[in-house]
Amino acid sequence: MNQLPSAGGAGDSGDGLGFDRRAGQPPVAVYVHTPFCPTKCGYCDFNSYAMEGEIMARTTAAMIEEIRRSPWRGQPAKTIFFGGGTPTYLPTDQLLAILAAVVEVHPPIDDAEITSEANPGTVDADKFGAMREAGFNRVSLGAQSFLDDDLLRLGRIHVAGQIEAAVAKARDAGFDNLNLDLMFALPGQSLRAWDQNLRRAIGLEPEHLSLYCLTLEPNTPFYRQHLRGLLIQPDEDDQVEMYELARDRAADAGYAHYEISNFAKPDRESRHNLAYWRAESYAGYGPGAVGFMDGVRTTNWKHPERYIEAVQSGAPTAFEHESIGESTHRLEQIMLGLRLSEGIPVALAEEEGLRAMTSRGWVDLSSGRVVLTPDGQHFCSEVALALA
Ligand code: SF4
Repeated sequence: MNQLPSAGGAGDSGDGLGFDRRAGQPPVAVYVHTPFCPTKCGYCDFNSYAMEGEIMARTTAAMIEEIRRSPWRGQPAKTIFFGGGTPTYLPTDQLLAILAAVVEVHPPIDDAEITSEANPGTVDADKFGAMREAGFNRVSLGAQSFLDDDLLRLGRIHVAGQIEAAVAKARDAGFDNLNLDLMFALPGQSLRAWDQNLRRAIGLEPEHLSLYCLTLEPNTPFYRQHLRGLLIQPDEDDQVEMYELARDRAADAGYAHYEISNFAKPDRESRHNLAYWRAESYAGYGPGAVGFMDGVRTTNWKHPERYIEAVQSGAPTAFEHESIGESTHRLEQIMLGLRLSEGIPVALAEEEGLRAMTSRGWVDLSSGRVVLTPDGQHFCSEVALALA
């Protein structure tokens, strides 16, 4: 049962934190960024820090403060997503205290999707049990590979056996909505090894699969190794073959391919990520969190110490505010919406570009919307630019 902490405090201005000024507004997606990981993976360019101890407690306190001072206080949550970093690396009491603050400020709607990312090496039965009890109802496990050699190479802290154990513990705790993240095009990975990974993942019967191609981002150790010729990924043709194999295996197992890299059992799409892909509003909290509310995109201070300083001094937690005008928003709707199997409304697309993309066979209009064809999925950015 979903035993969310009481939202009864919301609207009480007696604590000096302000009115529920956004009560009655349509429910929004809420993102919470926890920035800590046990170690830094070699390919990671996320806002994550290999730190532990008292900095975690201070960051948690600052996050709770930021959330409780939110200008969006009172606006209900349709989804809440804890990402990172590794949310499950936080001590359980801290993780749940942040959730309680979010629930106080953004009362979840009845069937709200409340997700936490989790690293298989940072969870146990007690943690999952407490998370489920507190209201989390979805877990996204960063599996990445079922081969220990790959995991070691990637710098992950878990081994393959911990993925199966984590899935079993999550199920025991009552989670009936699980995602597994896997990556392909890993250094030295063969098509056969990727196929084994897909089979192992599908064999665990998650409700959702996120299957991403490893990208080498500048400023990562992997990128530098690649420049020195020490890290070689499968070539582009092999990557296409891996992607197509993923599509086939997922389809055979009954997953709908609803977004370029994401596959779901019926009604198990990530509702939180759908809000991003549909270019909807979302509130963001925590170090480095991005939000998009009332047409303004904000980015919080990234380093935990800088973020804490901003919260404690009462300064804005965001160091960047960008007004998203109509034309930029339209471009984002096209770029993000094309990733979805539902596509975008025809009216969003520029006519000449639409004709060109249709004649190339990269988009299909038969549903009454603009949808990428399987071939077009390999050229999503090019199509988006042509339609903008
Ligand atoms: S677990 Fe994720 S966020 Fe943390 S270092 Fe690895 S890739 Fe980055």
